[in-house]
Formats: sequence, C-alpha cells, structure tokens
Amino acid sequence: MTHSRRAFLANTAKAAIAGAVLPAMAEAAPQTIGPQAIDSHVHVWVKDPRYPFAEGANVPEGVDASVETLLRRMEANHVSRTVLIQVSHYKWDNRYLVDCLTRFPGKFAGVCRVNPEATDAADQLIYWVSQGCDGVRLSPAADASGDWIRQPRMYSLWAQCERLHVPMTLLLPASRLPDVRPLIDKNQGLTVVSDHMADCPIGDTASLAKLLELARYPRVFVKITHLWSLSKQSYPFRDSYEMVARVRDAFGSQRIMGGTDWPIKTELASYEQRLALYREEIPFFNAEERKDVLYRTVQRVWPSRPK
Ligand SMILES: [Zn+2]
Repeated sequence: MTHSRRAFLANTAKAAIAGAVLPAMAEAAPQTIGPQAIDSHVHVWVKDPRYPFAEGANVPEGVDASVETLLRRMEANHVSRTVLIQVSHYKWDNRYLVDCLTRFPGKFAGVCRVNPEATDAADQLIYWVSQGCDGVRLSPAADASGDWIRQPRMYSLWAQCERLHVPMTLLLPASRLPDVRPLIDKNQGLTVVSDHMADCPIGDTASLAKLLELARYPRVFVKITHLWSLSKQSYPFRDSYEMVARVRDAFGSQRIMGGTDWPIKTELASYEQRLALYREEIPFFNAEERKDVLYRTVQRVWPSRPK
C-alpha cells in the first residue's frame, strides 16, 4: 500500500470515528470504529411520569438520554458495556437506573446516589445495591454546602460500601481531595474512583498534585474524562494530554479509564469523538495501555456479573 493510500484510509477512519459520516454507514462498518470499549461513565434519564424528576432539577431541553438511544449508540460504536451513573435530576431516586439494569442484563453496571446527609445513608446504599446497583457516587461541592463530606457519618457510609464490595465513586473538585484522604485511609479494602481527574484545571499543578498524591493508595482509580470541558481548545483537545500523561505516570494504565459522560455537553464533543480520544487520539498510550483505558480497568472495577 502506498503511503498516500494508507494516509487516506487512516484519515477516512478518523473521519468515521469523529462522527463525520452518517450513522448508518458507521453501523455498516464497525471495523472502522476501533477496538472494543467499555464506557465508565454515562447518564440516562427519561421524561416519564413513572420517574419524576426531583424538585428544582435543571433538566436540559431537547436531549434524548433514554437507555434505548444509548444502546443504539453503543451498538453502532462497538461499546459492549456501560457504567450508568445516576443523574442528579432524580436525586436519590434510583428507580430508572435500576430498571435499566434489570431490563438489559449484562449491558450495564449502575452507580446509585444516596442522600449523604441522611442518617440512614448506609441503609439506603444497602437497599439500592440489593436492587442491582454496583456502587455509589458522592458529589460534595467545593463550597460550604459540601462540608458534609467531613461529617463523622461518612465513616459508616464508606464502611458499608466496603462491606458490600462495591466501589465508591467521587465527583469532587481537587480542593475536596484532602477531605476524603482520612476516609480512604480508614477503608483500605474499598475501591475508590475519582471522576473526571477531579476536574483539575489545565496548568493548575497544585490541584493536580492533590490528585496524584492519591496514587499511593492501590485501590484508587481515576477516570481520565472531561478532556472536552477542561480543554481550552477544540477537538481533539490536545492541551489536556499532558495532564492525562501525568495521571497515567502516577497511577499506571491499570488504574485509569476512559468514559464519555454522554449526553452531557455533547456540543463540546460527540459521543463518537469522546470514544475516539481513547481509541486513537491520545498519542502516548502503547497497545496494552490503550486496552486498559478502553476496557480492562473498568472491567476490573465494575466486573460484569449476573443480575
Ligand atoms: Zn457525568
């Protein structure tokens, strides 16, 4: 094959991955999509009276975030499984998430949310895990409204999570990382996942240092996600790669994972583009590291299991 022919084919494949072709064509030629993937981070919701949104929920208009739409996208893009993260629109009502897990066995893991300020938060977790959920997500805000993460009751919730053998997922800014250190110290058998590289702003080395410090805990994992919102550039967001490299260097590829965060802010990057970042755009992963990022790490953290 000539060099120009090879380059043409490579560019065609890139265009396909970037979503520049019709979806029907992408479905007809899945071999152009790239390797298999498991998506560590997606949200689903529906406008349905059976699953009312929480009071004051800020649900974006005109977004089709149903599980059926997600499944079609997974199929078209060679994504075999997805971790569903309970969307904040439903607050602590995880029923739609649970229904998705039940209706499509083997396709999803599900991370619930419980009210961390409730006295029965640990019992809420027991309930949702009994319903099929595979862990919980906490999201303390940077301001005083997130100070509950320092409350003693956190210890019982985290201990319960460890007893249930499900991961603790954290959506928090880097400024909150020191608050979770004592909880990680206390529950060393607990798998902990930091979402979106703690949203460390690019170039903020002090914030990044707080995240990298957690690499000394062997059961802490990081989602190398949100490149599209952290970057100051357009796709493929190259200014974010150095941070990804530093996270990879500190944690190793076996503790980092890609994810799309679909359908949040897809105006910044499409589902296909987000997958393409991990499949081919981020340039420094070797073949084994890429497998870790695409599916092996997430499979370790959220193994498929019978529901
Ligand atoms: Zn998200």
